[in-house]
Amino acid sequence: MNKFKCSACGKELPAIVGYERAAWRHCPCGHVAVSIKSRLESLRRELRAERISYGELVELQSLVPHIEPGDLELLEAAGVDADVVREYDTGCE
Ligand SMILES: [Zn+2]
Repeated sequence: MNKFKCSACGKELPAIVGYERAAWRHCPCGHVAVSIKSRLESLRRELRAERISYGELVELQSLVPHIEPGDLELLEAAGVDADVVREYDTGCE
């Protein structure tokens, strides 16, 4: 499921049925919450361009439960051990 995370308050919002493909929705705090998937993709772009910041790396680590288990590029960047990656259970609903 595509979840959303508010960049202002950090609140995670469940996707609305029928709107899973949308890249953003509004958080109750009034800010726009971007989908975690699209946030991960923008972090990946920063990573590939070798301009990812420390704050973005911390954010990437906080999003580890949302990274696909086979996505070694993001998992390794987040500091997840390769052995852990193989047995990694995402715990996603
Ligand atoms: Zn918010």
